[in-house]
Amino acid sequence: MKLDAKIPSGPLAQKWSKHRHDIKLINPANKRKFDVIVVGSGLAGGSAAATLSELGYKVECFCFQDSPRRAHSIAAQGGINAAKNYQNDGDSVYRLFYDTIKGGDFRSREANVYRLAEVSVNIIDQCVAQGVPFAREYSGYLANRSFGGAQVSRTFYARGQTGQQLLLGAYQALAKQIEAGGVKMYPRTEMLDLVLINGQAKGIVVRDLVTGEISSHAADAVVLATGGYGNVFFLSTNAKGCNVTAIWRAYKRGALMANPCFTQIHPTCIPVTGEHQSKLTLMSESLRNDGRVWVPKTKGDNRPPNEIPKEERDYFLERKYPAYGNLAPRDISSRAAKEVCDEGRGVGPGGRGVYLDFADAIERLGLNVIRERYGNLFEMYERITGEDAYKIPMRIYPASHYTMGGLWVDYNLMSNIPGLYVIGEANFSDHGANRLGASALMQGLADGYFILPYTIGDYFAAERPAKPSVDDPEFKKVESEVAERTKKLLSIRGRRTVTEFHRELGKLMWDKCGMARNEAGLKEALDTIPAMRREFWEDLNVLGDGNELNQSLEYAGRVADFMEFAELVVYDALTRDESSGAHFREEHQTPDGEARRDDERFSYVSAWEYQGVDQRPILHKEPLVYEEVHLAQRSYK
Ligand SMILES: Cc1cc2nc3c(=O)[nH]c(=O)nc-3n(C[C@H](O)[C@H](O)[C@H](O)COP(=O)(O)OP(=O)(O)OC[C@H]3O[C@@H](n4cnc5c(N)ncnc54)[C@H](O)[C@@H]3O)c2cc1C
Repeated sequence: MKLDAKIPSGPLAQKWSKHRHDIKLINPANKRKFDVIVVGSGLAGGSAAATLSELGYKVECFCFQDSPRRAHSIAAQGGINAAKNYQNDGDSVYRLFYDTIKGGDFRSREANVYRLAEVSVNIIDQCVAQGVPFAREYSGYLANRSFGGAQVSRTFYARGQTGQQLLLGAYQALAKQIEAGGVKMYPRTEMLDLVLINGQAKGIVVRDLVTGEISSHAADAVVLATGGYGNVFFLSTNAKGCNVTAIWRAYKRGALMANPCFTQIHPTCIPVTGEHQSKLTLMSESLRNDGRVWVPKTKGDNRPPNEIPKEERDYFLERKYPAYGNLAPRDISSRAAKEVCDEGRGVGPGGRGVYLDFADAIERLGLNVIRERYGNLFEMYERITGEDAYKIPMRIYPASHYTMGGLWVDYNLMSNIPGLYVIGEANFSDHGANRLGASALMQGLADGYFILPYTIGDYFAAERPAKPSVDDPEFKKVESEVAERTKKLLSIRGRRTVTEFHRELGKLMWDKCGMARNEAGLKEALDTIPAMRREFWEDLNVLGDGNELNQSLEYAGRVADFMEFAELVVYDALTRDESSGAHFREEHQTPDGEARRDDERFSYVSAWEYQGVDQRPILHKEPLVYEEVHLAQRSYK
């Protein structure tokens, strides 16, 4: 298979404008003749569905929540990046581009990242026009703060609820189109398979989560905007429903999965408190603008934090990375926290925690300013831990948070299956081996509002409207496969719950393929997962039946997919015999413990082709060619 990323020719800064000029257009009257399925109503899917409908396409949009407004994007806290340079602190499109490439440890596609930085400025205008209540300065200008991996302030925010406010903006745009009849919305409907006709994506098979009915939907193109797969680790900051099913089903129908081992561990989450915990809570990265991260200098120092004098504290991020300090990127900050805890200097129960301390900021800025900036986060922290972080430092520890890997897409955001587009966190496109904070919202909205609406037209311009009938035998075949699988999950009637299996898989993934990985551990995981999967299919117990709302059945289907997908993540991590960004292979580190890349052998996107369960997938490589950027060892010192 030949991978063609379809990167436009010409100088980097002109590629996107030139491409938009070269792209074929469809006249407004003809747009009405094309049907598009959008799976997902988060920031990527919601913005895409609304914009496509606004352009005139006929859209069907699906989500598994009871309202598109409840997509997981709503959880995003800290902010969204854009190269507006409102602070006049030296920002530019080029700087955002460079920070993102460097933050991703030189494992992302240059042309995509440049376009992302370029489009970032339009996103803010669009959202302001929708009425998104971004924080403002006294002057009325939009306010900014800093996020990891940047030395400028370019993050726009709405307190600690940026995702919610952006999603309400996208939702309003979507609701307008639903009302106008341009979008038909299917909430509580889960895509369980993709349908290809003559090699093109032409529809999906879904299950109505309330009635259990399985049905087909046909279109001229299918867009997957189904979010990330961080829940493969069981414990994560993601919503409980986040899963890999839609993209995994597409993978099994021939779409390539790119860089699945690039998974991000976020440094500032509330630490795990016990075996039975099922969810972790993020404390936004924005808190590192004002909070200082430290542990006691001495191992086993159990004094309460406020009794440990400053000179006996190790502000380890400031010490190790003086140029970026507490705002070192996530992969680096997470590993630094793990390192001090491994040395026995961690705090809190089990010693798996570090302090995030606001005392200095409160003294400098006053309590009110801190409350204004982060009030809802402090409140959330207090509700979960019972501690008042205005008075004693927060305790934080890294946790699984975001997935840079996803389905492979070309510059037009189309997968290798014609007519199958993938946007937002579900694709692999822009973040390389490590995403910078506040860049996921930027990417989801860039894809949905500004990129896909152009590029999909180019595909349609070469096609005739050809939505197939759902009576086509291919749809019927896939429907019966979906029904069969659902029946199988219900018929096992074994002894173990879905949660037990998910927890076991997640623990293995965290231990062997989490923040640090090595060859022996990855091989052990590869030996263990197939046996775990067999046991799942022999001993799972799903109660109830398939013709009703049955959340344990939904969950079982998602975990069944994680059981297969996890093996690919591990295999990708084993094959990528280098460290890059969040993918930290212990065998490959610099003398001071940083990730050591091997550009000679691994400067490529790994794109895996499915060969069957229990079969090794085929690796395709998309070489990463840098025209503009000089590859260097990342340094935040
Ligand atoms: C706690 C938290 C805080 C964050 N804070 C920030 C931040 O401050 N800034 C930032 O840039 N990023 C942040 N992120 C990351 C960011 O929120 C996500 O990457 C982004 O919102 C993902 O958007 P999305 O549209 O791709 O997917 P989602 O918002 O996850 O939406 C997925 C959609 O797909 C649907 N779906 C999924 N599978 C199926 C299926 N099989 N069938 C039907 N529908 C399906 C869901 O119903 C949903 O509508 C944060 C993430 C977390 C977990």
